[in-house]
Amino acid sequence: MTVFHHAAYQDHEQVLFCSDPSVGLRAIIAIHSTALGPAAGGCRMHPYANEDDALADVLRLSQGMSYKNAVAGLPLGGGKCVIIADPTTPHKADLLRAFSAHVQALHGRYWTAIDVGVGPEDADVLAEGCDYVFARASAYEPGFNPSFFTSRGGFVGLRAVAEFLWGSDDLRGRRFAIQGLGQTGGDLARQLFEAGAELVVSDVCEERVRDAVSRYRATPLDPEAIHAAAVDVFVPCALGGVISDETLLEIQARAVCGLANNQLVEPRHGAELARRGIAYVPDYVVNAGGMMGASTAILNDLTREQALVRIDGLFDTILSILEEAKASGRPSSDVADARAEQRIARGRAT
Ligand code: NAD
Repeated sequence: MTVFHHAAYQDHEQVLFCSDPSVGLRAIIAIHSTALGPAAGGCRMHPYANEDDALADVLRLSQGMSYKNAVAGLPLGGGKCVIIADPTTPHKADLLRAFSAHVQALHGRYWTAIDVGVGPEDADVLAEGCDYVFARASAYEPGFNPSFFTSRGGFVGLRAVAEFLWGSDDLRGRRFAIQGLGQTGGDLARQLFEAGAELVVSDVCEERVRDAVSRYRATPLDPEAIHAAAVDVFVPCALGGVISDETLLEIQARAVCGLANNQLVEPRHGAELARRGIAYVPDYVVNAGGMMGASTAILNDLTREQALVRIDGLFDTILSILEEAKASGRPSSDVADARAEQRIARGRAT
């Protein structure tokens, strides 16, 4: 395993390998950049097959957080951590507590939060011995799901797509195919329905599909076919890797804009979408609402209401990325990456 020569190293500022033999902790913290502010990004707990896989994941995710926070205009850098463990282990709380000591030792250079395998209640466990944890369950009123920030950003993004495609953000009668009706996709379906849109939906969980059909008069579609639905916009809100050589050929929608992370199997698929005339909203841009909302815990001067206003600002960001891509003939994914890199470089220079 190499770090400095790793394909995903990308000039990370700091990579820390953390252990605590008393509880069997093995974890990696990757801080990609603090040029714009403290590095912020969630903590993933996953039983990686080996350390190489864990390193590759944390480096990729950490750089992604730098780009997301930069394009979102947040005064935050990018970082991420992975704990190599099964999140169903009965020793989960011990691992989290041991890990949090490593985050605390960084004195705020890196703030951690939730991710796959680590939920808002787990974040409260992390916060028992660490001052640098956000998106904790106890930070919100009972019943509030911070994923709302993300789904609101998704709705704003889809309005921007409508403005780009049709010159109006009115979603009445527009057709959307939503893949995945979980925390984000389910709430996005509600917002689209309330705005008068027509929905085609899929989920591997049949109950969620039935619920959307009855609540939002949605048309159900097989999970294998949802990307190929004859709609205006394909909205991936489940897993990553949905834009591949195979699915690309079958997409009928004029745009792809959804909240799932890492939608492109490879960066070249962004260029391929552009070549086929499909407007693509880079995933890390449209799903930044979650970070914008949850980061109020880091940015003490930002209220929830101000965070919602910031999320509404994604409309202009997304519209301008799509317009710049169209005017320059470059893929929107490249336009967004360049904006992130420029903002980070400016931050480094000051
Ligand atoms: P979730 O687990 O609540 O929902 C995902 C849904 O997708 C589930 O209902 C699941 O059954 C369904 N699903 C799984 N495989 C599917 C398939 N092949 N076809 C159709 N449906 C399938 O997750 P979530 O929090 O809604 O997150 C969804 C995506 O958004 C993830 O990629 C996540 O990384 C990303 N994201 C979420 C947030 C957030 O605030 N929750 C923030 C940023 C990014």
